[in-house]
Amino acid sequence: MTIELFRNDSYLKDHNTIISEVVPEGLVLNETIFYPEGGGQPGDEGSITINNQTINVIGTRYIDNKLVHLIENIDGLKKDKEVRLSLNWTKRYSYMKVHTSLHLLCSIIPFPVTGGSIGDGRGRLDFDLESKPDKEEVLNKINKLIDEDYSIYISSITDQELDKNPELVRTMAVKPPRGSGQIRMIKIGDNIDFQPCGGTHVNKTSEIDHVKSVKIENKGKMNKRIILNF
Ligand SMILES: [Zn+2]
Repeated sequence: MTIELFRNDSYLKDHNTIISEVVPEGLVLNETIFYPEGGGQPGDEGSITINNQTINVIGTRYIDNKLVHLIENIDGLKKDKEVRLSLNWTKRYSYMKVHTSLHLLCSIIPFPVTGGSIGDGRGRLDFDLESKPDKEEVLNKINKLIDEDYSIYISSITDQELDKNPELVRTMAVKPPRGSGQIRMIKIGDNIDFQPCGGTHVNKTSEIDHVKSVKIENKGKMNKRIILNF
């Protein structure tokens, strides 16, 4: 199993590690700083340097429960080789900011989330909601939360605790990862937002750029899509 260093520290940009397996799509490593596609967030890109040769990582995702760094050509790559990982930090930091802003959006719109997507400088959530919220109000509230500079904390609860508090799960489309007995929780401020999430976040809301515009689309009677542009 790859040790997923980004779970506890999403600010790691470079890291030395060892190839644990070569698979047709790319490399599995002992440790990684690359986030695999999931929860609406794209997998990380960047590069891997082996013996002074630099190879592009075009994406990261789980394949057969293995965290794979996708590369175009695996010829000549072998298990146990030492490698240096470098993250495309510009892109990832943008995702971290957008991702964290979607938690703030969740706190403003207290309805179940049915889907979502994180992009570079853009993000959206779909809510199980009948009436359209006022977009100017959403814009002002979210920028206020950004300016108020709340801290983001990582913690965990047990499966049983989550079962007793099902209201903590905001996203109907993405089930919190179970199996280890512990579920990772993300908290913003003392009571802004608290929900299970495996993604990458910034440390302080003030790191998020101001939202420039909010767009709200009708995606069915009980589905409103809220798009944030930065
Ligand atoms: Zn999150």
